[in-house]
Amino acid sequence: MEIHTIGGFNEVGKNMTVVKTGDDAIMFDAGIYLPAVIELQEEEEQQHAYSEKKLRSIGALPDDLILDKLGLRNKVRAILLGHAHLDHIGAVPYLSYRYKAPVVGTPFTTTVLKKILQDDKIKIPNQIKSVNPNSTYTIKGKKNYEVEFINATHSTIQTSMMALHTPEGIILYANDFKLDNTPVMGLPPNYQALRRIAKQGVKALVVDSMYSGLETKTPSEKIARAMVEEVLMTVENQKSAIFVATFSSHIARIKSIVDYAKKLNRKVYVIGRSMNKYISSAKDVGMCPFYKDVFIGSYKKQVEAILKKVSKNRENSLVICTGHQGESGSILDRLSRKQLPFEFTHNDNIIFASKTIPVPVNIASKGQLDKRLKKSGVRIFDQVHVSGHGGREDLRDLISIVNPEHIIPAHGSTQQLTPMIELAREMGYDVGKQCHLMQDGQVLKL
Ligand SMILES: [Zn+2]
Repeated sequence: MEIHTIGGFNEVGKNMTVVKTGDDAIMFDAGIYLPAVIELQEEEEQQHAYSEKKLRSIGALPDDLILDKLGLRNKVRAILLGHAHLDHIGAVPYLSYRYKAPVVGTPFTTTVLKKILQDDKIKIPNQIKSVNPNSTYTIKGKKNYEVEFINATHSTIQTSMMALHTPEGIILYANDFKLDNTPVMGLPPNYQALRRIAKQGVKALVVDSMYSGLETKTPSEKIARAMVEEVLMTVENQKSAIFVATFSSHIARIKSIVDYAKKLNRKVYVIGRSMNKYISSAKDVGMCPFYKDVFIGSYKKQVEAILKKVSKNRENSLVICTGHQGESGSILDRLSRKQLPFEFTHNDNIIFASKTIPVPVNIASKGQLDKRLKKSGVRIFDQVHVSGHGGREDLRDLISIVNPEHIIPAHGSTQQLTPMIELAREMGYDVGKQCHLMQDGQVLKL
């Protein structure tokens, strides 16, 4: 067996791992490296779909061209997607055509992918297959392989760990997750399935280790829900505007914001193209209980009409919008530059139900956004948020449950992945023999 660590082992983003067994190869995730795309957007000041060539040239795609050199391209039998985040699915529109293989994910993940393809006017020849959480899909190659989509918890709905059953043992791909026993939406992690595959024998675990250096168990999403409640109750009595910026893929977080906005008797408006994309995807798969409670605006005219209305009814409205990372062209960015028909005034409230992704381009954009917003005298509530990535103690628990023979840390720079190696050593693993610090473009032979 060979495990090719193609992307996401030197950086946070462009996740891709390919497992070769016998005469077949299976691809896990095909993500984009977002900071590179954001930089490009800032240079060009326009959002549109880019060409594959352009994205490869700026390092935004995982370097799957190495599969050609290794003679593996024609052996890829499936492209499996763990969840709907762009750093896991965002490269599919640009490179999946290279493989005669279906693209497989949970209904929410595949619905989001289809909407991205539609929006960017990209057609791919691959079949797109949906598999329900806690169900199995059969991959057809020289041999057949079962892959289980085991329900996990993360910052978007219908996230899965994927257990690939091969004649050489099970590969568990757990990238990204946290162990949230009280999720706001969806099911808790499927511990029963994890214990079962542990008994069958897990050969290797590829694991989201971004926060392996944080000595904590990441709090449940219910804590973020309580934080949202607390901030909204704080600003309740002011006759001022409330804008909440959050991740458009974070359906559970949006649900919490809508629930408490309703308690304040405020009308909820959701604006921004990506908000519409994810919320309508959630609705399509029956996971948007708040759909009837919100007004959605995605195109220019709708957004402007909503903002004019909010401007006249500040104390009765709450706006959920894009722009928590200060992204150029997002709603909050354009509001801060006074390019939209709404002006913030003294004591208006801007809540960031998010955390700035710690890469230089995001830190700079967010800092400049805050500066422009503060000129209007607004109150800013930052980091009303808990992470969707497990800390060191989530990782310890997962490893104890599945007891893998080999561990491969993923989802970060060498510096971010190294504490996972230390944790494995602490748990009795032989570093180098059983626990492997990999880089992009390397191969591990087991
Ligand atoms: Zn993710």
